[in-house]
Amino acid sequence: MEQAREKRKRFAAQVCGGLAGPTMGGAEPAPRFAAVEPASRPAARETDEPSASARFLFEATRRAAEAEGLEIIPTCCFSCNTACEVLAFREKATGRIVKIEGDPSSPVTHGVACAKGLAAADLLYNPGRIKRPLKRIEPRGAKPAACPASPASPTSQDFSGEAVPPGWKEISWDEALEEITSRLLKYRETDGAKSIAFLEGTRRGWSRVYSRLANAFGAPNHGAAGWAQCLWPRLVDCKVTFGGAQYPESCDFANTNCVIVWGSNPAATWPLQGAAIMDAAERGAKLIVIDPRLSETAAKADTWLRLKPGSDTDLALGFLHVIIAENLYDRDFVENWTVGFEELRSHVAWRTPEITEKLTEVSAAAIREAAIAFAATKHACISRCVSVDQTADSVQTCRALSILIAVTGNLDVPGGNILVSGRGERSQNSHEFILADTIPLEIQRERCGYERFPLLCGELSSVPSAHMPSLWRTVLTGDPYPIKAALIFGSNAAVSYTNTNVVTQAMEKLEFLAVCDLFMTPTAQMADIVLPASSWLERDNVISSFQTSLDYSVIQRKCSEPIGESRSDVDIVCELARRMGLGDLFWKDSEALYDYLLAPTGLSLRQAIEKRRLHAPLKYGNYLKSGFKTPSGKVELFSSVLASKSCAPLPPGSPRPKEEGKPEAEGQSKEAGKLGDAEYSLDFSTGARSIFFRHTENRRNPWLISQNPHPTVYINTETAASLGIAEGDLVEVQTPAGSARLHAKLERDLALNFVEAVPGWDGEGNINRALGWERFAEGIGTVPMRGLKCRIKKVSDAS
Ligand code: SF4
Repeated sequence: MEQAREKRKRFAAQVCGGLAGPTMGGAEPAPRFAAVEPASRPAARETDEPSASARFLFEATRRAAEAEGLEIIPTCCFSCNTACEVLAFREKATGRIVKIEGDPSSPVTHGVACAKGLAAADLLYNPGRIKRPLKRIEPRGAKPAACPASPASPTSQDFSGEAVPPGWKEISWDEALEEITSRLLKYRETDGAKSIAFLEGTRRGWSRVYSRLANAFGAPNHGAAGWAQCLWPRLVDCKVTFGGAQYPESCDFANTNCVIVWGSNPAATWPLQGAAIMDAAERGAKLIVIDPRLSETAAKADTWLRLKPGSDTDLALGFLHVIIAENLYDRDFVENWTVGFEELRSHVAWRTPEITEKLTEVSAAAIREAAIAFAATKHACISRCVSVDQTADSVQTCRALSILIAVTGNLDVPGGNILVSGRGERSQNSHEFILADTIPLEIQRERCGYERFPLLCGELSSVPSAHMPSLWRTVLTGDPYPIKAALIFGSNAAVSYTNTNVVTQAMEKLEFLAVCDLFMTPTAQMADIVLPASSWLERDNVISSFQTSLDYSVIQRKCSEPIGESRSDVDIVCELARRMGLGDLFWKDSEALYDYLLAPTGLSLRQAIEKRRLHAPLKYGNYLKSGFKTPSGKVELFSSVLASKSCAPLPPGSPRPKEEGKPEAEGQSKEAGKLGDAEYSLDFSTGARSIFFRHTENRRNPWLISQNPHPTVYINTETAASLGIAEGDLVEVQTPAGSARLHAKLERDLALNFVEAVPGWDGEGNINRALGWERFAEGIGTVPMRGLKCRIKKVSDAS
């Protein structure tokens, strides 16, 4: 066991790039779960009490801090959605946060925290923070104020740190909110609510309140860069396959005997899950990783399947062929709890491992072996994340994985894919909470993309929302109606959307733009009014998500007074609602909202903060009581709901390849044929991630940027040599849609014809500049970000 712990410690240090704090590299937290023998059924955790050793460790940490004049504030990091429990160390004399560490006493995270969390004190005190509301004083349309680049960064993502950027003046909150309110009400009166776009970024506790504002205001064009690109395809899959139960999003790693990590790299993107997977592997569970790149997680696998980028659906359907042909499916579950098995059987009949090899570039033997290992192991789970949302057939890729989970009987069993427990507080994730039905149907029908993308824009969507490429095109063309204004919360839209240049042109065309953010991002620089948002260290929150924990909700405690006049997004939304005449649908402030959410538990926010977390044990076999909320009451392998929306009821995958020569590219027919010509001969994805950044965030943090100073594109070592490219060279990635310039990172294990870029960078390094809108996934409108084609050139050779 000691040896296993040591291995894990080294692994954690490795994935955190050597930035692990004392709780990662020093004192070793207690093992997260008791080891279990294969096929045994351990008890779920029944308590939220930290173990005696964890309490001892916490006390020791607290006493050491005391001796240095520090007090410890237990809270949760929200630099990403994992919301790890951390300790903020605050100087008693000054009230200044001096460091953040993982909380060794946490029964949720056991001291795990990543580099972003450990570096979060700089998020708080970064000199680039916007401290007061700003108003543009140059005419709108004038070139935005220049923001000098950080010495460490080749982009313009760093702000100089001046208190007031040139071309702007500070105004009061009252003036800023009044101007936003009066402008938006005026547009609603003259052009209708559809003329105003309510846009947002990644969810961090305030998102659903913001959705509620958009709907209460009556604006059908509400949306985010990421929704059709991240999570929504998975959630639509859950809705149509399992009636809304989100089984595939949660794995019972503590009890599993086999894990397939499908297309993600939790070691870099979800360290808490990465640690749980490593614990399972150290306990003896088989680890199969499916990824075109030998990621940090793949490097630890028993089996790594290097699939052709974007061929995920084909690989999953190939697995299903093997499992059905070998009679390895769970006959009882299939007969009693699914519909459409015979249709599935004939759908995958031709997908032998040999044909699947042609489609996926994974050898037939490896396909057969992995499929049998997964189906024959009791029990096994599939861990999936954003990569399956970003294929050319996003919902269908997700569906193929859900079908794999279901037919192998790995649903709602110990060690399989399971549901999070109910902790009792009210959820914000419902149509009722966001007032989705407030907008009359005839107005909803005017939502950009409504007819073509019903899975995103209609009732099946977690937040019925606009299709963003359609929305930006409408802004540009004024067809079928003008969109004149936008309110953007927490989104660096000028960087984070694909087809960046078109989006930027559209943003410039808006008559009025208001942005709420922490920094003067490229998006904020285009605004008329900028509102300063607080960071997670300056606010409370109630966090309940499968991304955080299967059996805990965690409470975030404010650790610092606000920087300048920054405010919590929830407080800003509540105040805007009041000024818009919608106050009766909102709360006085964020504390009142959290009191409301917690009310069913009998706790106020203040009481919950003292308690720190809410716990409820996991339950298995939930469906046995009430079935699935699908039309058939069963798992719909063949989806009647998708069929009713004119979408494929079974995941189509690629067409059957011709006997000779290459298969047609998967599911894209003519368009893909054009992209796949000799000129653009490299397979290309934008799926790589850096542990130091979250989407477009964190690049102003000097500690994090010093670890990863440049935009990166991974290239095979041999391929790079043939193109005269050396490690670190600036290369141009070119597609028919555009180009971006990133620094080469050479990898021996990458397929010869594959390059993979890291997204999130501003300026020339923004890979979204190379992604166009030639095709969208059926029903939901995802812009494919995997399985693309490109060519690369060293910058000195590039035109
Ligand atoms: S994984 Fe996310 S929540 Fe956890 S420490 Fe890192 S950034 Fe913070």
